[in-house]
Amino acid sequence: MASSFRPMNRRTMLRGTLAAGAGVAFGQLLFSGTAQAYSWSRTLNQGDSGADVTELQIRVAGWAADSASHSRVSIDGDFGPGTAAAVRRFQAAYGLSADGSVGPNTQAKLNSLEQSDGSTLHFNWSEFVNQSDGTFNGGKLSASQVKENVRRCMYKLEALRKKLGDKPITVNSGFRSIAHNAEIGGASDSMHLYGTAADLDVSGVANKTVYQKAETCGFSGLETYNTDHQHVDSRADLGRDWWWEDGTV
Ligand code: ZN
Repeated sequence: MASSFRPMNRRTMLRGTLAAGAGVAFGQLLFSGTAQAYSWSRTLNQGDSGADVTELQIRVAGWAADSASHSRVSIDGDFGPGTAAAVRRFQAAYGLSADGSVGPNTQAKLNSLEQSDGSTLHFNWSEFVNQSDGTFNGGKLSASQVKENVRRCMYKLEALRKKLGDKPITVNSGFRSIAHNAEIGGASDSMHLYGTAADLDVSGVANKTVYQKAETCGFSGLETYNTDHQHVDSRADLGRDWWWEDGTV
């Protein structure tokens, strides 16, 4: 749908945003934060619960399955078997001891995937903002809720990128305001309106391959791979039914 929209780099987008008079809101949203790497205060194991478990679940959610499966890591703050399995997959993928216990080494690796502005190592907020005004405003949720959904999407995309052999992923369209989505003919209840969707291009990799890898990353929405981009979303996190348009492939 949005493949004709080229991702803008931060400078280009800032120019456009300032020209549109939205620079203040944009700056407040994206650049005023002083987020640091997450401060883990204990080793986390199965059976633990709390806000730190929730954060862990967000960060390993892309490691939901070994093979195509309608399984996702529940972001509920309870460290159960599904979270433990995702942790073990994460650890194995990054050369750590795959014991399912989240101690200093695993915490350091998790933090290495975080940028100081709260985005992730290989993805920037600027890739996900509404392309007509450079903000997370005007969607179906508050800007802060949208931004949090985008952050969760980024961590899943880090897993997808890793599974694709560290191939760079280009995000053509992330969050869309209701107005912008209507302008470009998007579905009226598109997951892009919630910040939980992304349209992807991976240079040199077939969309079908991206789709197949995404089937293991906890993505509950996958549009057909027979287009010029690959759409992924996490609609089940919003209480929606799973939807893989091409089924399990
Ligand atoms: Zn899409």
